[in-house]
Amino acid sequence: MFKFIFGPVSSRRFGLSLGVDLSPDIKQCNFDCLYCELKGAKTVDTMQNPPSVKEITDELKTALKKYPDIDVITVTANGEPTLYPYLKELAREINGLKCDKKLLILSNGALITDKSVQEALLEFDIVKLSLDAATPQLFKKLDRAHKSVDLERMIEGMKEFSGVFKNELVLETLVVKDLNDTRDDFLALNRVINEIKPSRIDLGTIDRPSAYRVLPVSFETLEILSREIENVPLVIVKRKAIVSPKEFSLDEIIQLLRRRPQSAEDIEAFFDKESKERLKKLLDEGRAETVSVAGVVFYKILQ
Ligand code: SF4
Repeated sequence: MFKFIFGPVSSRRFGLSLGVDLSPDIKQCNFDCLYCELKGAKTVDTMQNPPSVKEITDELKTALKKYPDIDVITVTANGEPTLYPYLKELAREINGLKCDKKLLILSNGALITDKSVQEALLEFDIVKLSLDAATPQLFKKLDRAHKSVDLERMIEGMKEFSGVFKNELVLETLVVKDLNDTRDDFLALNRVINEIKPSRIDLGTIDRPSAYRVLPVSFETLEILSREIENVPLVIVKRKAIVSPKEFSLDEIIQLLRRRPQSAEDIEAFFDKESKERLKKLLDEGRAETVSVAGVVFYKILQ
C-alpha cells in the first residue's frame, strides 16, 4: 500500500500514468476553484508537513518495479504541487529513476512567478498549467486565489517560462457555465495564449462533482469557443461527450487547419466519413502532416 503513489491511471493524452501525490492527507492549495473536485478549503501559500524527497522516492522505486509499463510519472498534490519546497530536488531524483518515462507536473501556475519554481519546472518533460481566465475579475470569481497571487504577474511568469523551457508546456482551460464561457472571454484568452506560446491547449469542462455549485457547458459550446483560439494546437477534453459528426468541405478543412492544428481526437469526434477522406487526401498529397505534441497527435497544414 503506497501513501504518495497512486495509479496506474490511463489517460488518452499522456498514456499510462503513475501519480505522485505530495500532500496525500489534506488539501493544500493557493486556489479554491469553484469547480475543484476536492472539498473547498481555505487557500494557503506554504505547504505544511511536506514529506521528504526520500520518503517519496523510496515508494516510487517500489512502484516502478511493480508497474514497469507506465509511460509517465505525474507529480500532483491534493492541491498545488509547486507549494512543495523540495520540488527541484525531487524532480532531479525522479529523473535519475525514470529511464524512458516522461515526468509530468500538473500545476495551477500561480507560483510560476517565482524563479525557484521556474527552475524546478525546467526539470520536467511536460509542464501542464491552468489558465481559466485572462482578466483579473473573472480569475478572482472562478479560481479564488490566495491574496498573494496576481493574474497579470502569473501570465508574465508563464511567458517568461515558455521562453526558456525546451520541453512541452501545456495549458489547460476549464470552462464553467455562465462564468468563462463567452466569446469575449475566449478572445481575451486567445490574446494571452498567443503571447505565452504553449505547445498545446487542453480545453475542458466540469465532468465530476465539484466543491461548489457550478455547471458544465455542453460539448458543442466547447467546440464553438475553441474556434476563437488560433495558432496553438488544442484538444477538447471529452470524457462522456456524445457528438454528431459534421461534414466539412475541402476548403473548410484547409481553413480549420490554417487557424490552428486539429487533434486526431477532435477529427475523430467531429468529422464525418467524407470529411475524414478529404483530410486523408490532403495527407496523401503532402499538403498536410501529423505531428505529436506531448503525446497527442495533431493534423497540421503544410501550405
Ligand atoms: S488549483 Fe486544482 S486543487 Fe487547487 S482549488 Fe483549483 S482545482 Fe482544486
